[in-house]
Amino acid sequence: MEAILKSNKLLNVCYEIRGPIPERARQMEEEGHRIIKLNIGNLQPFGFDAPEEVVQDVIRNLPNASGYVDSKGLFQSRKAIMHYTQEKNIAGVTVDDIYIGNGASELIVMAMQGLLNNGDEVLVPMPDYPLWTAAVSLAGGRPRHYLCDEANGWLPALDDIRAKISDKTKALVIINPNNPTGALYPDEVLLELVQIAREHGLIIYADEIYDKVLYDGAKHTSIASLADDILFVTFNGLSKNYRACGYRAGWMIVSGNKKIARDYIEGLNILSTMRLCANVPGQYAIQTALGGYQSIDDLVAPGGRLAKQRDLAHELLNAMPGVSCVKPKAALYMFPKLDLNVYPIADDQQFILDFLQQEKVLLVQGTGFNWHQPDHFRVVFLPNTDDLGDALGRLDRFLASYRKR
Ligand code: PLP
Repeated sequence: MEAILKSNKLLNVCYEIRGPIPERARQMEEEGHRIIKLNIGNLQPFGFDAPEEVVQDVIRNLPNASGYVDSKGLFQSRKAIMHYTQEKNIAGVTVDDIYIGNGASELIVMAMQGLLNNGDEVLVPMPDYPLWTAAVSLAGGRPRHYLCDEANGWLPALDDIRAKISDKTKALVIINPNNPTGALYPDEVLLELVQIAREHGLIIYADEIYDKVLYDGAKHTSIASLADDILFVTFNGLSKNYRACGYRAGWMIVSGNKKIARDYIEGLNILSTMRLCANVPGQYAIQTALGGYQSIDDLVAPGGRLAKQRDLAHELLNAMPGVSCVKPKAALYMFPKLDLNVYPIADDQQFILDFLQQEKVLLVQGTGFNWHQPDHFRVVFLPNTDDLGDALGRLDRFLASYRKR
């Protein structure tokens, strides 16, 4: 019998955060090893529970949550999101411009499916959160990766964006705060990005899922608050800010120049009705979460658990010979660099696999974030300081053995 093959549509689609190396880690756990996981931004397993009030509201509403609801989502949840857009100064958003999905992930895929014809191009950051590259490819589009510049605090390299625009470019993706680099973009840079989109008629897709995970008192500006003459699609949700990844409650907001996008919006409406609606119990968490004081503020404030873990990871990484790391201003990640003159790595996937097998610590290789060289990896600083110290101590030991090869 002939082998059953996957669709060609999946040729350029990958998601290494849950790829073959995490699968190997799972097998090792089954064999009885304890693996320290610095690979995924999933908060609850590290002791970051969702706010109690939010959990209680989901429990209370569970008996009413077994029917389908409006495809775009529960009215009161979308109303709460609408108020959130007002707090973030995004003008002119009505309940109709808001789509609730099974996490932002579903909506990112939907937004690309609704937009792209084969060969259309989308500017995606490099490094990126790989779902973006995958979603563009799956929709038949071509991701064009623009550089985020490590030497400039990982801010988008505006020249590189301009150089990669062609007559096929439809959109510009901005991940701010950034995964995997932890960068937070200042308003001047956001305004430059708006200007590029304006000049070239691009849609801006803004992934702002970490907009409350901010250190050192930093403030986040939603790029959609900076103009009304271009189309913005902004993504957010409860996964990170409210430590509720598993509720799968995310949303997408269409704002700005909606008049030019009537046809595209019709496409989004068709796609959102096709999947009937998003997980309803999770939608009941949204109003309570956005209306209260349960966000992540205490954890990221100086002396808060996440702030301490960030500081420790940053310090330990930078103390390792041949390792340098930009300090994250936001989110849950850092993206350290290995000096290839010190560590002759040709294949970073193999490097991360060897580290896992030798030291029982799971990281993700930089190329998993569409980075162009085998000289980076991502650290998730969710484990407590004991585990983080232990894991990074093991990395230091592994790197020392690597230097001697
Ligand atoms: N966007 C970014 C930048 C992320 O890091 C993640 C998850 O890690 C998502 C989107 C997906 O979020 P959700 O849980 O809402 O699907």
